[in-house]
Order: sequence, then C-alpha cells, then structure tokens
Amino acid sequence: MKSLPPNSRLFDTHCHIDLFPNPSDIVAEAARLRIGTIAVTNAPFLFEHTQQLCRKSEYVVPALGLHPELVHSHGQQIEQFRELLPLTRFVGEVGLDYVTKDQANRQRQREVFETILRWCSDAGDKILTVHSRRSSADVIAAIGANFCGVVILHWFSGSLRELHTGIDNGYLFSVNPAMTRSEQGLRLIRDIPKDRLLTETDGPFVAVERAQATPSATEAVCSAVAEIWNCSGEEVQDTVRQNVNRAMGRETTIRRSPQPA
Ligand code: MN
Repeated sequence: MKSLPPNSRLFDTHCHIDLFPNPSDIVAEAARLRIGTIAVTNAPFLFEHTQQLCRKSEYVVPALGLHPELVHSHGQQIEQFRELLPLTRFVGEVGLDYVTKDQANRQRQREVFETILRWCSDAGDKILTVHSRRSSADVIAAIGANFCGVVILHWFSGSLRELHTGIDNGYLFSVNPAMTRSEQGLRLIRDIPKDRLLTETDGPFVAVERAQATPSATEAVCSAVAEIWNCSGEEVQDTVRQNVNRAMGRETTIRRSPQPA
C-alpha cells in the first residue's frame, strides 16, 4: 500500500488536490519539489479519481473521506466508504462541522463519524486527518484516548484547553498558512509540542497572496513555525519529517534531506 516517501523535503498532510482547476499540476509540483502530500477527498465516490491522479507520483497519496458538511447529502455513501477503506492507509477529510445549527444534521454527522472511527480503529493502522470546526470538544470526545491509529487534527481552532486534551490523547496537529497569519492560530501553534506538529495547506481553500495555496506553501509554514521555535526553517522541516515517519511507524534518523533536483 502506498505511503509518504520518508525522505520528502516537506509534507502537506491535508490538500484537496482534486478541487484545483488542474490537479495534475499540483501532483507535478509535489513531485518536483519532493513534498509528501496527503490528497484528501470529501466523499467516497471521489476516491477512485484521486487515486488515479496520485498514480502519477510517489509523493502524493490518496485519502478516503466523507466531509461532515456533505453528510446530509452523501451520508448513504458510508457503505462505499467501508468497501474502499482497505485500499488506503489514509483517511480524510472526516470529522464534525457545527457551522450548521440543525441538530438532526449534527446528530447524523456524529453517527457517521463514530462509525468511521470504529472501522478505522478496528483496522488499527489508519492515519486520519480530521476536521473540527466549532466542534472540537465533540470531535475529541468521539475519538477519545484509546483510538487505535494516528489522529491528525487539521486546522485546529478550538480552545487551548481542548488543544491540551488532544495532546494528552496523543493526537498530532497540522498547521497551515491561515493559522500562521492569525493571532488565535499562533497562540495554538505555540502550545503544540514539537513532536506533535505537522504542516498542511488545505489548498485550494487557503489563500497565499491571493492565490490558492499549493503544497509548496508548507515551506513558508515551516519558516513561520521557526520564528516561534527560534530555529531555522530547515530544522522545522526535519522535525516535521521525523513526526511523519514516527506516525507512519518508521524509524527515523536525524539528517537533512537532499535539495530538490
Ligand atoms: Mn479540508
């Protein structure tokens, strides 16, 4: 089964490659700049297309998802989700989104998310990238401390207290360009332990200088984190690489990766 290349220079652990105007360009960029990228999807019927896109590069891996905002329209695809799950180690985008005030919608989201968590925990080796907008307490409660697998809370925006519960539960946190530009985002980043931090773009939904963020924007995220850690951007890149490899269950050695060709 496909996994992120251990010596990738950078990592984008949450990118919607299939939603860019030209997905092949994004795959080519990730390959050229050696950016290990998790290509998340928003519904099971989109997985196979993204899987095809990812065949063009060893640096991009497909993730199977069911976005909480699509549960009301595509929730019945949970059966397809179960069938596709053995095909990939990567799961996302999944989670809860409480922008909706509709209680029945939220309840249905929780049912779908809990089902996905149960299947993933039973599989035991899945790596999840999880959405938790306005719902971080319920997301953390649903996952708990005994989930069997790797949990990455993507673009976390809950409270510091919730962040620390997530840390205690063993989760990782993927940081994107939007977080490095907001006071609340920076406050959270300062409290993420070095061995729990990953980088992402959430492209094309995050903008960098009015353009859609592509995987290469993770380099600037590392530089922003470097300012907080008071070290070089390369050191942050090395730390992220170690964190990814630990999450993948691989032994890591501390060494610089070669520059891209
Ligand atoms: Mn996303």
